Amino acid sequence: MTRKIALITGASRGLGKNAAQHLAAEGIDIIGTYRSRADEAEALGAELRAQGVNAVMLQLDVGASASFAAFAEQVASALREHFGRSSFDFLVNNAGIGIRAAFAETQEEQFDQLVNIHLKGPFFLTQKLLPLIADGGRILNVSSGLARFSLPGYAAYGAMKGAIEVLSRYQAVELGARRINVNTIAPGAIETDFGGGAVRDNPDLNAYVASNTALGRVGLPDDIGLAIASLLGDGGRWINGQRIEVSGGVYL
Ligand code: NAD
Repeated sequence: MTRKIALITGASRGLGKNAAQHLAAEGIDIIGTYRSRADEAEALGAELRAQGVNAVMLQLDVGASASFAAFAEQVASALREHFGRSSFDFLVNNAGIGIRAAFAETQEEQFDQLVNIHLKGPFFLTQKLLPLIADGGRILNVSSGLARFSLPGYAAYGAMKGAIEVLSRYQAVELGARRINVNTIAPGAIETDFGGGAVRDNPDLNAYVASNTALGRVGLPDDIGLAIASLLGDGGRWINGQRIEVSGGVYL
């Protein structure tokens, strides 16, 4: 049986890296993207190959939509050369940044950066990659708990994540004809480098989030990587057009 291939954006660290590790553990081949840390990405590629799967790392700035057509060509070549295929199966739109700014103080430049990376990027990247996604494939867009509940400082970020959830439902409707299912996974606060690593490194914030989480702790990268691998597994085949929050039950 042909092995499945997952393309994960922002795979050099954090949740994208963790998802790559858990998908590889399920025998899924990986195309990972990195923005600037080629060394970290290559180390992950070597680790995944040692796990017994095929893995290729490509450079991509998800905020630079003008580069997406050329990136799609690179993916097509990588598929041909490294995997002997003309399509891949799973797209995980994960790459992202956090910018904390009160609504009243958010600069247009910050808004534009967030919209480019979190909304315009996944919108047009997915569009450009569509011909390379196999019929019956899956798309998983990464949202955030902050699209359901509202904390001060995340007006622009939360709005972009809300938009990706709406977009996912439209994509599910339009791509159903190709049997491609589309969902969003919405992590709660997870201990990664995200937002300067605040959830991991600031004990007060960590304790605050834990105290508002039913399961009594903040999230760890494995909590999300395992969920992504599970949603992209056979058990997820009839889940479509849904927002799945993976947060241990925060602000229930
Ligand atoms: P992280 O900072 O550890 O990793 C982010 C990844 O995205 C890195 O690989 C980075 O290189 C990549 N990236 C950032 N900007 C990019 C760009 N312009 N082009 C290409 N790649 C870029 O953060 P993370 O926690 O792994 O975040 C991953 C996703 O999860 C993001 O979409 C984030 O919004 C979302 N999320 C994170 C949390 C959390 O608490 N960590 C919670 C909810 C949602």
